[in-house]
Amino acid sequence: MTESPAVPAWGPDFAALERTDPEIARVVLAERDRLNAGLQLIASENFTSPAVLAALGSTLSNKYAEGYPGRRYYGGCEVVDEAETIGIERAKALFGAEHANLQPHSGASANQAVYGAFCAPGDTVLAMSLPHGGHLTHGAKVSFSGKWFDAVHYGVDAETEDIDYDQVRDLAREHRPKMIICGGSAIPRLIDFAAFREICDEVGAIMFVDAAHFIGLVAGKAIPSPVPYADVVTFTTHKVLRGPRGGMLVSKAEHAAALDKAVFPMMQGGPLMHAVAAKAVALKEAATPEYQQYARQVISNAQALVAELTAEGMRAVTGGTDTHLALLDLRGIGVTGAEAEARTGAARIVLNKNAIPNDPQPPRVASGIRVGTPSVTTQGMDEADMKQVASLIVRAVKDADGSQTAAVAAEVAELVAGKPAYATS
Ligand SMILES: *Cc1c(COP(=O)(O)O)cnc(C)c1O
Repeated sequence: MTESPAVPAWGPDFAALERTDPEIARVVLAERDRLNAGLQLIASENFTSPAVLAALGSTLSNKYAEGYPGRRYYGGCEVVDEAETIGIERAKALFGAEHANLQPHSGASANQAVYGAFCAPGDTVLAMSLPHGGHLTHGAKVSFSGKWFDAVHYGVDAETEDIDYDQVRDLAREHRPKMIICGGSAIPRLIDFAAFREICDEVGAIMFVDAAHFIGLVAGKAIPSPVPYADVVTFTTHKVLRGPRGGMLVSKAEHAAALDKAVFPMMQGGPLMHAVAAKAVALKEAATPEYQQYARQVISNAQALVAELTAEGMRAVTGGTDTHLALLDLRGIGVTGAEAEARTGAARIVLNKNAIPNDPQPPRVASGIRVGTPSVTTQGMDEADMKQVASLIVRAVKDADGSQTAAVAAEVAELVAGKPAYATS
């Protein structure tokens, strides 16, 4: 007689992972420990909540749900429909948007759908250049966006290092783009959405805001929203917004059908319903006063961090930040971005080298670093902690011979031990 198998647990069951695959279980724990052991200053990362992680680890992962709530290509979708409908309503309410789509698998997928909805191959788009802070999906040659579309790029003003709006207008008039994209991955300042709207109206272009980096600050009402101005706003859900890894878009009602069709079936197959449910959870969390306080603290922390770093000889691109991130030019202290990333990394301070506008170094070396405060703020750090974080960064960055690495790492360990990212038991 064969034994009937035990009924499996319906949700996250770490013991099952340890039994089935100790090798991967060890990796999962090691990554948790890596997060807890260091200072995570990558501007595009955050620590998502146990509630979001629970939705992500649920049986909603099993369901095929091609289509949209009430209009699916598969049976049995009545339950997952609820999760997606709740999420869509939360997104519309939180952002004051007429339409929302929670299905894009990632920020890049959401952007691909926008191109699919509004452009045909060969059409002209105008976007921020990658070396000035844009994104690969904004027309870089190595991306679908640069291969299949005719991308023209604006950059930052040489003096202010902020977006050169005169150049945007001039290029828009000259090239008459189908779509103008604003947003990027290394823009420390607020974007003038009204100015972009005016330029788009003048040349008849779609206004596409890629809010991947800063949408969490918008959700938390800490900075102005692009939603009233833009035709479509795409974003990732895993950066400041603190949700699961994924993408989302909100738009004007007039573009709803075109965008939904571009997400599915043009660019994607079945939605990741566990991720859609987790996005709904994150949107609920982001609508709370606690999250709004968090968003404001993220900015205060970034400003405190920049003030300390610039006092130590690093130069802040644009002179500072209005957001969660800052770009520091290290030429004044004679260190490259790559050296800084390696030296801080050795001391468990995780940040990334980053090109600065008009960088004389190639991207793999870079003259700058990018730092962001979403993660450290989630773990409860404040301006006083930023003072210490800055001093640890500076000691590591200036430590050419590595003689300080162990001492800095020990101080990092002490600092984060009091405010761990995740519980270990
Ligand atoms: C992070 C980011 C994306 C891409 O997100 P993925 O989820 O990594 O695909 C797109 N645009 C901008 C501006 C980003 O910063």
